[in-house]
Amino acid sequence: MELSANAQALAYLVSAILFILALKGLTHPASARRGNTLGIIGMAIAIIATLMGNEVKSYGFIIAGVAGGAVIGSVLALRIQMTAMPQLVAALHSFVGMAAVLVAIGTFINKQAAGALDAVLMGELSAGIIIGAITFTGSVIAFGKLQGIVSGKPVKFAGQHLLNLLIGLVTIGLGVYFAATGDVTALILMTLLAFVIGITLIIPIGGADMPVIVSMLNSYSGWAAAATGFTLHNNLLIIVGALVGFSGAILSYIMCRAMNRSIINVVFGGFGSETGGGESAAATAHEKGVKSASVEDAVYWMEDANRVIIVPGYGMAVAQAQHALKELMSLLEERGVEVKFAVHPVAGRMPGHMNVLLAEADIPYDHVLEMDEINPEFPSTDVVLVVGANDVVNPAAKEDPSSPIYGMPILEAGKARQVFFLKRSMRPGYSGVDNLLFYQDNCSLIFGDAKDTVEAMVTALKGGGH
Ligand code: NDP
Repeated sequence: MELSANAQALAYLVSAILFILALKGLTHPASARRGNTLGIIGMAIAIIATLMGNEVKSYGFIIAGVAGGAVIGSVLALRIQMTAMPQLVAALHSFVGMAAVLVAIGTFINKQAAGALDAVLMGELSAGIIIGAITFTGSVIAFGKLQGIVSGKPVKFAGQHLLNLLIGLVTIGLGVYFAATGDVTALILMTLLAFVIGITLIIPIGGADMPVIVSMLNSYSGWAAAATGFTLHNNLLIIVGALVGFSGAILSYIMCRAMNRSIINVVFGGFGSETGGGESAAATAHEKGVKSASVEDAVYWMEDANRVIIVPGYGMAVAQAQHALKELMSLLEERGVEVKFAVHPVAGRMPGHMNVLLAEADIPYDHVLEMDEINPEFPSTDVVLVVGANDVVNPAAKEDPSSPIYGMPILEAGKARQVFFLKRSMRPGYSGVDNLLFYQDNCSLIFGDAKDTVEAMVTALKGGGH
């Protein structure tokens, strides 16, 4: 059965509305599951309506492609660790970029054979190829950096920005020439140079900024899809591309604001170089008199507390300590202690990272508070447990103008009566900056894997404690 053009347009409209509702649902953990379901229904309608359209000539290749993609996607989704999610997202964006390039080149070959090329179409093809190629190689490099295959260090050399600008201008010039003449050599050169730009744009950026870059590449992949939509005269692809393009851009902006960085500074700054600092930090820690505490000390404090705030960070994700934290929360609540979780907008390695893990452990949403809501509560809090977090509670962001994280808003954990850090060593967080909170009188470190430590706390509480 073949769908009429009108019926297909209607189906696309329904999908577009479902995608918008899906994005709305994804703005809050409580409605995220519903948002996902709406997105899946929207995508199913879009795929079925496309397959039933009059442009499909044969199903063989399509079935093979879908089957291959489904196998790869399922294996990846089942095997991927939560901490490796940013690189998975980067890898998926690279596919979108490559798809845009291939569709544009395929369309060029088809239309040329049919003698149906015009300057507007070729302009759209150029845009699709340039954005798609940059997205492809940029995402591959971002994947490599996050996976540790390519060095996370910013790769910099003199005249780098000038060189990028020059390659960019030549690429656009070739795109304009191709649109005007249909010259195949210009098309090939333009494509190759756009691949090069993706690499030269991303290699100068440090590992710590990669999540922002992944979000920006997400935005690019949306624009590449929108350009493909223009090429194929597919309205749904244009709408979806624009939704992805804008939501990626807005997310990048939110992340930058949460780190008090400008997007320009992220793209050209080279923040987050691998400054190490592990061993020397340990040495200075000792000199500066950092205190370490035992599990029993912390349990003693928490049992007596009126309010305990838990600050989760990247280390909680590494240790997978969220389920043990849920148990700790329940045991403390049974003893009449109020327990809350404080989530910084960039805790972990991607926005929402902590919320997803806490939700997975069935920690109620009303126990999980955002930075602005919870900050006023720290001064009247007895105990703060910082579980595998570091940068997001570092007072250097407020007190040390020379610090790379100066100006980043933080969770003001240091204002509580007592702070316990659960971490394995004196190593700094992702930004590579020493944490001034370690040296405060009201702060102690409990060394060890966060999950082991929290489980030991649970055992101590179950054992009756004091
Ligand atoms: P940090 O990277 O600052 O600190 C994480 C801490 O966890 C480390 O100090 C580490 O110390 C500890 N840790 C690691 N593994 C374990 C373990 N198994 N058990 C216990 N502790 C462990 O994380 P935050 O979440 O506080 O901050 C996020 C950082 O990422 C910020 O700098 C932010 O700007 C950056 N970032 C975040 C983005 C986002 O969207 N979320 C985007 C871009 C950047 P040790 O090795 O001693 O155990």
